[in-house]
Amino acid sequence: AQRVLEALESYEHPVRVPVELDAHRYDVVIGPDLLARAGALLAPLLPQKRAVVITDVRVAALHLPKLLAALAETSIEAQVFTVPGGEESKSLAQYGALINDILAHGIERRTAVIGLGGGVIGDLSGFVAATVLRGVPFVQIPTTLLSQVDSSVGGKTGLNANTGKNLIGAFYQPLVVLADTSTLATLPKRERIAGYAEIVKAGLIADPELFAWCEAHGGDVLDGDPAAQIEAVRRACAFKARVVAADEREQAAQGGRALLNLGHSFAHALEACFGYDGRLLHGEAVSVGLHLAAALSVRLGYCPGSVLKRLDAHLRAHGMPAGLDWFPEPLSAETLIGHMARDKKVHDGRLAFVLLRDIGDSFTTRDVQMDVVRDFLVQEGC
Ligand code: NAD
Ligand code: MG
Repeated sequence: AQRVLEALESYEHPVRVPVELDAHRYDVVIGPDLLARAGALLAPLLPQKRAVVITDVRVAALHLPKLLAALAETSIEAQVFTVPGGEESKSLAQYGALINDILAHGIERRTAVIGLGGGVIGDLSGFVAATVLRGVPFVQIPTTLLSQVDSSVGGKTGLNANTGKNLIGAFYQPLVVLADTSTLATLPKRERIAGYAEIVKAGLIADPELFAWCEAHGGDVLDGDPAAQIEAVRRACAFKARVVAADEREQAAQGGRALLNLGHSFAHALEACFGYDGRLLHGEAVSVGLHLAAALSVRLGYCPGSVLKRLDAHLRAHGMPAGLDWFPEPLSAETLIGHMARDKKVHDGRLAFVLLRDIGDSFTTRDVQMDVVRDFLVQEGC
C-alpha cells in the first residue's frame, strides 16, 4: 500500500532536481508518464509554440506518438526528424545531414529543439541546438536509464570524431529535462544494467549513502520497479548536479567534475577495443572500469581490499560485469594502454586517473606510471 501511495504521489507531483549553474538554472523533472504531460510541462517554458523533435527510429516507434499528442494538446507545433539508432548517429556526417535538413524545413531562433531518446540522441540533438542559428532553446527527454541518470545533468553535448568518442562538442544547457521513468519499461535488461553502472559510480565517487541504497534497492531498479527507478534517478541526478555546480566546465585542478570519470579511463579503452559496434555497451564498460579502478586503488595501497570485495559482490549479485573475466577472450594490455594514452584526459603525456580511498571517497591523480598499469592489467587477466 505504501508503494502505491508513493507512486500516486509522484504521479501528481513529479520530483524536481534543480541544476544550479553560474549563468543558468534548470530542473530535471522526474516521474512517471511525463511524456503524456509534456505539453503542459513545456508550454510555459518554450519561447514559441513550435519545436523540432529529434529522435531515433526505435524510440520513435515506442514513445513518439505520446509526445506528439501531448504537444498537440497545448498547440505546440512539432516537426520530427528521425535518425538511425546507435553510436554511429553521433557523427559529423549524421550531424551535417540533420542540421541541413532542419534548416531546409525552416527553423527560427525561438524554435526549441527537443531531443527524445537515449544519450546518443541527447548528445546529437544538444549539439544541433547549440549550433543551429548559433543556438536555440533545448529540451532533453532522456529515455534510457543511462541518459536519465547521467547525460541529463551537465550540459555536455557532442559528436564522435574519427580519432575517438566525444572529441567534438559544446557545453550547452537545456531549458528543462523531462525524465519520464515510464519510458524505461520498454528498455531491454542489458540497457538497464548499463545505466545502473553509472548510479553505482556516483555512489562510489562521493555518496556512500547512495552506494548503500544501491545495495538495498539495486535489484528493484534493475527489475524495473517504478518507485525504485524514480528514486535512483533522483539520487543520481542530485549527486551529479552537486558535482557539476561546483565545477561546471571541468576546470578544477583537483577533484571536481573529473571525478565523474571514475572507471572511465578503463571503460573508454575497452570500448575502443570493441569499436563501438554494440557488442560492448558504454555502461557495461563502466561496470568493468569501476572494478578495475577499485582494484588499481587497492594495488597502489590507497584503499583496503574490503572495498573492492564489497563492490565486486554488489556488481556480481546483479549480473553486472565485474572484471576482465567477463570478456570471452583475453584482451591485450598493450592495446588497452595504447587507447588510454589517446584519451582526451591526457595532460603533458600523463594520464589522469580517478582512484578510491573508500566507498564514497575518491580522488584524481596524475601520478600513475604506465608500466604499473600494464603489469596491473596483466594480473587482472589481460
Ligand atoms: P543510446 O542512446 O544509443 O540508446 C541505447 C539504445 O536504446 C538505442 O538503440 C535506442 O534506440 C534504444 N532506446 C532508447 N530509449 C529506449 C526505450 N525507452 N526503450 C527501448 N529502447 C530504447 O545509448 P545510451 O546508453 O542512452 O547513451 C549512450 C551515449 O550517451 C553515448 O554516446 C555517451 O557518450 C553518451 N553520454 C553522454 C553524457 C553527457 O553528459 N552528455 C553522459 C553519459 C553518456
Ligand atoms: Mg559514462
